[in-house]
Amino acid sequence: MRLNAILKSHCPHCLEGEVFDTFMKMNETCAVCDIKFEREDGYFMMSVFIGYVMAVAALLPIAIYLYANNASATWYLLALLPTLLLLSPAIFHYARILWLHIDELLDPRRQE
Ligand SMILES: [Zn+2]
Repeated sequence: MRLNAILKSHCPHCLEGEVFDTFMKMNETCAVCDIKFEREDGYFMMSVFIGYVMAVAALLPIAIYLYANNASATWYLLALLPTLLLLSPAIFHYARILWLHIDELLDPRRQE
């Protein structure tokens, strides 16, 4: 199931192989089905946009809470910056995973 593969950071094609070697380092190809994850140069630029949306989605509730409580700019900085720094590795990781799966759904690789 694709949602399970996304949560486990598995390959978008076979849904079994690991996409990441470590949390921040991607494998070049899938160990199970041998597809190349980076289809072309600049392939992961779209994941930057997905990461941006994920960051906004994560920070917006905090910003709304601070705004509702008339917080000072210092509180915005103290709440939002550390949260963004802590979430950045996970955003990087899952933005790429999400992009791989979205792209596979929109433009599936051919079965060999
Ligand atoms: Zn695979």
